[in-house]
Amino acid sequence: MRFLVDGMLGGLARWLRILGYEVRYDASVKDNDLLAIAREENMVLLTRDEELYQRAVAKKIVSALVVGETEEERLAQLARSFGVRLETNMAETRCPECGASLVEKSKSDLADEVPEESLKLYDQFWKCSNQSCGKVYWVGSHWKQIRQTLEAATRLARLKL
Ligand SMILES: [Zn+2]
Repeated sequence: MRFLVDGMLGGLARWLRILGYEVRYDASVKDNDLLAIAREENMVLLTRDEELYQRAVAKKIVSALVVGETEEERLAQLARSFGVRLETNMAETRCPECGASLVEKSKSDLADEVPEESLKLYDQFWKCSNQSCGKVYWVGSHWKQIRQTLEAATRLARLKL
């Protein structure tokens, strides 16, 4: 399952990439082009725009009108509607910035790119495979927040079954 995300849902695009899904997100793409891309590339269109959603439905494009105000609510909706799994697996996680796959790197490869303190504290590091992005990630203190958000989303998804 691949997602095409409208310009109002940049945060959700990042979450879906963290969860390992292929996501296309470009805030400059116009509504007509979103519909064409979703149809031609067989992607699930996620939008906050009711009119765009109705147009997608009329064209039989798989789509969701994302209604939640928080990321937890939005993720819970996708879990219910499409069975999006709310668990991370670093082997599948994609770069939240650009959506490319991540490659595990050794500390010695990253000595110039990661603060010394983080190299000391953490053991595993990943680098975005897209050379024009190249961001480096590690499971640091912010990961606790990611886990809490996913746990909250999981609880919400179950509540509303
Ligand atoms: Zn990247």
